[in-house]
Amino acid sequence: MRRTAPATLLALILAGSLPAAALEGPAPAAPGTTAPAASGKPRVVIVATGGTIAGAGADAANSATYQAAKVPVDKLIAAVPAIAGVAEVRGEQAFQIASESFTNAQLIQLAKQVSALVKRDDVDGVVVTHGTDTVEETAYFLDLVVKTDKPIVMVASMRPSTAISADGALNLLDAVVVAGARDARAKGVLLTMNDEIQAGRDSTKRVNIKPSAFFSQWGPLGMVVEGKTYWFRAPVKRHGTTSEFDIDTIDALPDVAIVYGSGNMHPEPYTTAVAGGAKAIIHAGTGNGSVAGYLVDTLKDLRQKGVQIIRSSRVGDGFVLRNAEQPDDKYDWVVAHDLNPQKAKILAAVALTKTQDSKELQRIFWEY
Ligand code: ASP
Repeated sequence: MRRTAPATLLALILAGSLPAAALEGPAPAAPGTTAPAASGKPRVVIVATGGTIAGAGADAANSATYQAAKVPVDKLIAAVPAIAGVAEVRGEQAFQIASESFTNAQLIQLAKQVSALVKRDDVDGVVVTHGTDTVEETAYFLDLVVKTDKPIVMVASMRPSTAISADGALNLLDAVVVAGARDARAKGVLLTMNDEIQAGRDSTKRVNIKPSAFFSQWGPLGMVVEGKTYWFRAPVKRHGTTSEFDIDTIDALPDVAIVYGSGNMHPEPYTTAVAGGAKAIIHAGTGNGSVAGYLVDTLKDLRQKGVQIIRSSRVGDGFVLRNAEQPDDKYDWVVAHDLNPQKAKILAAVALTKTQDSKELQRIFWEY
């Protein structure tokens, strides 16, 4: 039989007239625990929250000057006809906001919506479109609290849909491929950007001006190329069905504040945060989560008043070692392990819904 050239196949897939299964290798397939769709394609729900992926600029030259959260989910889907070739897709509009405006209320509402979707027999995977600014926080939150092995895939873009070389269309197509892929199951919440599949727990926004914006210090889990998934590693931290947290039992999150470390600090950012209601402080310390000598008494005092002190680092990579730089055992403080301050804030808030015990909190920071 004569074989069609791969480039021709890809063109047909992108036009929406051929399923990605036309390419060689393991194709996305309907996961086994639910009855397959008549079409044989996985059924994916796209939950839209806004962000640049739904952004629109005045001109195609506007890659950085535009309004986020403008394009509704059905238009996002219609703009990528190739999606119909890889999955049966429908959209739900959760919110239409820029992600810097997310609050705990939105996190909880979104997680409950996604949790309800993954419980359905007719849903094989969920994609969440999101702004890039806080997608790393939402990804980690869903990873911790949605009890499922079905793929949940975050997707965003750095350029609005109206820009030249907009990155959202391919990112969205890739996210749908991953959400429908049997081999994406039980890998935690994922983020598909710039051809890479990253662990939602690990990935963080590192660049604020170009499409290769997301980075994980432990490396991406895999890649999506021409409608197929390729995997190279798997997460070991607890998530999804192995998590002890469940959004179905969480209706509010306690306040957690981050205080950014630098030279020449003052105690007020810590004390003011606590006066404003913070139950835990993420100290985004210099280096190995270091605390300036002149601030130690302030933090010890706050701990005595019941506030959890969690040492993270402003450095970004590496991990904070317990009892190095500061005697955490003696002061009853916690270390954030390899979580950056914004991820540590999410885990602290979730953990504090279950325990106020600092030893338990430290166990949770080791395990998640
Ligand atoms: N400020 C936007 C947001 O996070 C940026 C983006 O989506 O890239 O919603």
